[in-house]
Amino acid sequence: MKIVHVASEMAPLIKVGGLGDVVGGLLPSLAKNGLDVSLIIPKYAGIKLDYLKDLKILDDDFQIFEKGENHSNKIYQASYKNIKIFLIEDDHDYFNKDVYGYSDDPIRFIYFSKAAIDFLKKHNEKIDILHLHDWHTALIAPIYKELYAKDKFIKSIVLSIHTMKYQGQCRPYDLDNIGLDGNYFFNNDKLKDPTNEDDLNILKGGLNYSDFIIPVSETYAKEILLDKSEHLHSTIEKNKNKIKGIINGIDEIYWNPRTDKFINKNYTQDDAIEKIIEAKLENKKFIQKILNLNNTNVPIVASIGRLVDQKGPELIKDGLLYTLKKNFQFVLLGGFFDSKNKMEFTDLKNSLKTNKNVSFNFEFNEMLSHQIYAAADFIIIPSLFEPCGLTQMIAFKYGAIPIVRKTGGLADTVFDLDDKTIPKEKKNGFTFMEFTSDALIKTMDRAFKFYKENSKYFNEIVKRNMALDFSWEKISNKYIDVYKKLI
Ligand code: ADP
Repeated sequence: MKIVHVASEMAPLIKVGGLGDVVGGLLPSLAKNGLDVSLIIPKYAGIKLDYLKDLKILDDDFQIFEKGENHSNKIYQASYKNIKIFLIEDDHDYFNKDVYGYSDDPIRFIYFSKAAIDFLKKHNEKIDILHLHDWHTALIAPIYKELYAKDKFIKSIVLSIHTMKYQGQCRPYDLDNIGLDGNYFFNNDKLKDPTNEDDLNILKGGLNYSDFIIPVSETYAKEILLDKSEHLHSTIEKNKNKIKGIINGIDEIYWNPRTDKFINKNYTQDDAIEKIIEAKLENKKFIQKILNLNNTNVPIVASIGRLVDQKGPELIKDGLLYTLKKNFQFVLLGGFFDSKNKMEFTDLKNSLKTNKNVSFNFEFNEMLSHQIYAAADFIIIPSLFEPCGLTQMIAFKYGAIPIVRKTGGLADTVFDLDDKTIPKEKKNGFTFMEFTSDALIKTMDRAFKFYKENSKYFNEIVKRNMALDFSWEKISNKYIDVYKKLI
C-alpha cells in the first residue's frame, strides 16, 4: 500500500507542537508495518537535516506558477526510518524561516500545497492514500478532486484534524494567484467561509473534498459534531459519515525514561517502586539546581505547553499561585504566541522574582521538557479544549500524575483516582469538568491530599502509569484499517 503524507511539521526534523509529534510517530510506525510511506514537507530554515539519510537534490528546477510568473523550486529527497522524505525549497523564501506566525501564512501554505500535488502528479506514481494534516495542506483535496482526478493517480484522500482552531482563511484571488479559479471555489458547498463574507476557508475545503476525516481523539470527534458554535459546524454535520476519531500515540522509543539522554537519572517501569521514586527524587534535585529552586523534597507541579488561550492560561496562573501557597514548587515551560499572555505571564514572573519555589521558562526547550517530566510529581493541563493532548501521555511515561480538564483526548486518557464509577485498574490521574480556576484548585487539592495521605498507593499509580501503552504500534493499526477500507 503506497501512502503519501503531506504535512507542515514532523518531529524531530521540525516541530512546533503535537502535529509534529504525531507525524513523527505515526509515519515510522506505518513503515514498520510494511507500508510504503512518503512525506512531503517544506524545507524550513530550521529543519534538522542531520536526522536524514541520503539527502540529495531530485529536481533543481521544479516550476510552480504564482502571481503571473514561474517560480523555480528545488525538490530534495532523503530517507528517515524507512520513510521517503521530499523537501520543497521555494525560490522566494516562503519557507526559509519559522514554520508559522506570518501574516501571509495562508499564501505560503497555498503555494506549498500546489507544489506538493503538482510534484506528485509529475512523479506519476499511483498513490493509494494521500494523507493531509490540518488546514496547511487541506487545499490539496479540492485541487486534486476538481482538477487532477481525471488523471487518477490517487485512490483516496484522508484529512487528519489536529485542531479546528486554525482554519486558513484567504481570499479567492489568493487561489487565482496560483492558477486556480478562486471564484469557482467561492461557493457554500465548496470553500466559502461561513462567517467572513469575502473569504475562503481552506479547512472547509479539506472537510468537503476528503474521502475520510480523522480527528485526533474520539471525544474530540464527538465534541466537534456537537459544538454548534464552531463556525464550520454545518460542514462537519454534512460530512459526519466520513468522520472517525483516532487517539494519538506517542513515540515510546523517544519518550522513554530508561534511555532518555536528556535526563539526569534514568529509570524504568520495570524497576521496583522505591527505585523509581529514588530516581525521580534525583531528577528533582537536578532540576532544582539548574533552575535555581530551593533544594527540598516537596512535590513539583509542572505545566508544559504553548501559552495560548486554548491551554487555560488564567487557570495555569491560579494553579501556580495555589501551589506556592501550599509551599510546593511549580515549574512552567511554555512559549508565547500572543502579546496578552506574554504580558500577563511576564508580570507574574516579575512579581515572584525572589520566590525560589517557582521557575518560569518562556521558551521552547526540548531538553528541559524531558527534565521536567522526569522530575515532576504532577502536570496540570487545564485546557479549554484539547483535540488529543500529548503532554498527559508523556507525563504518564515519566511518572508524573496529570491533573486535567475532561475535554477531548484528555477525557479519553485520564481517569480520576477518586471516581467510584471507574474501574480501579483504569484510574490514573485527576480530572475536572468546569473551566474555572476554582474547579482546578479543588482538584489540585484532592491530588495533593492523595499524595500526602495515600503515598504508598500514589507511588504504585506512578509505576503503573509508566507501563500504559500509548505506542504508535498499537494506534497505527487503526489507521491501516481505515486505509484498507478506503481502497
Ligand atoms: P499542542 O499540539 O496543542 O501544542 P500537545 O499536548 O498535543 O499540544 O503537544 C505538545 C508537545 O509539545 C509535547 O511534546 C510537549 O512536550 C511539547 N512542548 C510544548 N511546549 C513546549 C516547550 N515550551 N518546550 C518544549 N516542548 C514543548
